[in-house]
Amino acid sequence: MAAKKFYVLPDLPYGADQLEPYITEGQLKLHHDKHHIGYVNGANAILEKLDKARKEGTDFDVKSTLKELSFHVGGHILHSLFWGNMAPAGKGGGGRPVGLLAEEIDREFGSFENFKKEFTKAANSVEGSGWAALTFCRQTSRLMIMQVEKHNVNVYPMFRIFLVIDVWEHAYYLDYKNERGKFVDAFWNIVNWEEVNRRLEELLKS
Ligand code: MN
Repeated sequence: MAAKKFYVLPDLPYGADQLEPYITEGQLKLHHDKHHIGYVNGANAILEKLDKARKEGTDFDVKSTLKELSFHVGGHILHSLFWGNMAPAGKGGGGRPVGLLAEEIDREFGSFENFKKEFTKAANSVEGSGWAALTFCRQTSRLMIMQVEKHNVNVYPMFRIFLVIDVWEHAYYLDYKNERGKFVDAFWNIVNWEEVNRRLEELLKS
């Protein structure tokens, strides 16, 4: 196995000011540089703790450790997906779904408008902090919306996620205060549909 034993914070795939006015530079920097890295560091600290405990043969609270690890790993993975499924408005961001994704959305939801409405409701109605995500079920060949609480609750096991929106308050409070709905509406202007379609195609090939 390669030496890659810990998580790494990915760079944003665009400048931090490039998602304005929908996400401001200050908001995006805070989210990526302070919050996302918190999950990377949190997960790595637990991995180090596990390495140490296993090496030294010391006891640790397995249940609470794994619960915490699930939270931090979930946070890291979902944020990494989130940065990649956005792009500057008019430069890859916004517009409508393309390719196979567009076909699958029409097939499952009837129209992009229907999908957008349902996904928006999923995002707006997450209890507390969480995510709305778009996934694909291999057993039924259906697109499915997943509503994640925190970073790891209500997840369908083994379902590849290819579009997410973060609706933790830390994702939008500088720009929209407590108005999650305004942030979710703004999000549609910066969705990178090419990338979301690419992820779906990749999933179907594998
Ligand atoms: Mn977040």
